[in-house]
Amino acid sequence: MERVRQHIRDFSHLVFPFNCYSCSQALDETEAHICSNCRERFPVTKYWEQKENTVEKLFWGKVPIKQAASFMFFIKDGMAQRLMHHLKYNGKTKVGEVLGQTFGQKLKGTSFAEAELIVPIPLHITRQKTRGYNQCDSIAAGMSQSLKTPYDANAVERIRANESQTKKGRYERHINVQELFKVVHPERIEGKHVLLIDDVVTTGSTLEACADALLQVPNTTVSVATIACPSPY
Ligand SMILES: [Zn+2]
Repeated sequence: MERVRQHIRDFSHLVFPFNCYSCSQALDETEAHICSNCRERFPVTKYWEQKENTVEKLFWGKVPIKQAASFMFFIKDGMAQRLMHHLKYNGKTKVGEVLGQTFGQKLKGTSFAEAELIVPIPLHITRQKTRGYNQCDSIAAGMSQSLKTPYDANAVERIRANESQTKKGRYERHINVQELFKVVHPERIEGKHVLLIDDVVTTGSTLEACADALLQVPNTTVSVATIACPSPY
């Protein structure tokens, strides 16, 4: 009998996400996807309260964005890495939505919340077909819910797959990211303050290329927000 119960439990765990995506502890009925204990311990950067923060500095001298911030620090084997892994490789788009919602709450009342349109960084069509989804879309959807700001996942397209950048020099890297994106619906962007979203920022070169494309549309302003960034510690 106990074995049967165990089988039922195992089966229901497959059907319903009863465990926290960060710590794997069982969730109670009031918790969704990430337990309240983990939510209280998000390794937040508070960069949205800090002018000239480390993420913003990545864009200095490259592209004139208004501001930039990340939600959490990415530490090896840490919470952000586990959650991003679920989102990116396991199809757990709910994780992106929860993180987007939570980050959106933090941004309320800041100049990031003044953005009029949220734009997730697009994947190249081939990559999106392989993965089945763009992990940034769910983040943008979550932020859109908290900030009550519309999001548009189709105004910009990635026209080339990003080549490996690890062995390239700084100049070649710069050339490589040029014309990576195309604004296919400039009329939806024109005159707007756009909040550009990515899951993780490292060198900032992909965001830089996308911001560059957006800023070629007349009278646009671009702010950048990502869920995770490397920890300086
Ligand atoms: Zn947890």
